[in-house]
Amino acid sequence: MKRSPGLARVIGIVLVLGLVLLIIKWALITAAILAVPFGAWWLYDRTATQKRQRAEQQRASAAARRRAEVESLASVDAAGGCGWCGSRLAHIGQDGRLVLPLDWHRAEIEQVLQSENEAGSTVRQG
Ligand SMILES: [Zn+2]
Repeated sequence: MKRSPGLARVIGIVLVLGLVLLIIKWALITAAILAVPFGAWWLYDRTATQKRQRAEQQRASAAARRRAEVESLASVDAAGGCGWCGSRLAHIGQDGRLVLPLDWHRAEIEQVLQSENEAGSTVRQG
């Protein structure tokens, strides 16, 4: 039995086609298998990032609220005195001008806010 060159060619094409299909199938299966863990990791990473960003925003807004609250204590009270230290007389700077309680007690306000931040961070860590 003599094989015709046409038949050999057809067999060759079928083999090459089969090989190509095998490679494509392997690539698709590999991609599908890898897509599961990588997709899960991507989702987890995204939600973790969002959670972290939201927590940071909440911390920042809470700090801003607390700062406004503390600063509001350092205001001129109804009697014209200082709401921070309770002085009945307004604070007067070295140049003889009135100084707002907020400016007069700026260092103390910052100290209070800082000590609260440190206390808060040790509570969070512990
Ligand atoms: Zn004062």
